[in-house]
Amino acid sequence: MDQTVLAGIGNILATEALWHAGIDPRSPANALTRADVKNVVRGLGTAIRRQIDSRERARDDVFFAYGKEGTSCRRCGTELRRIVLGGRGTTFCTGCQARRKVSRTRMRPLNRGEKDRSVRGVRSRRNIRAPG
Ligand SMILES: [Zn+2]
Repeated sequence: MDQTVLAGIGNILATEALWHAGIDPRSPANALTRADVKNVVRGLGTAIRRQIDSRERARDDVFFAYGKEGTSCRRCGTELRRIVLGGRGTTFCTGCQARRKVSRTRMRPLNRGEKDRSVRGVRSRRNIRAPG
């Protein structure tokens, strides 16, 4: 789990947030879309709320992924897997947590004289133009 995007988030919360967001923890942070990031933040909120409410729950009921390796995913039924990433263990579902990959077109540097046709390039050219 790359902690550069969500630095300081503990292992339990990160594991839970990624499960809620449906994102494979092996995904590189720079492969996440805006929607992914939004979903991770939303997932964090859910995970934090569940931990706060956990006094009223049995401990078994608090987490969806953390410490649940070998059990069935509550969303899709696939067996949860535990892996070690960057020295830390994390549990996730290979069935419904999709692995994001950095697309080649996004990573390829522009050739000399080539226009940036990516969304970002189009947007920056638009901003250069004077209004009206
Ligand atoms: Zn699943």
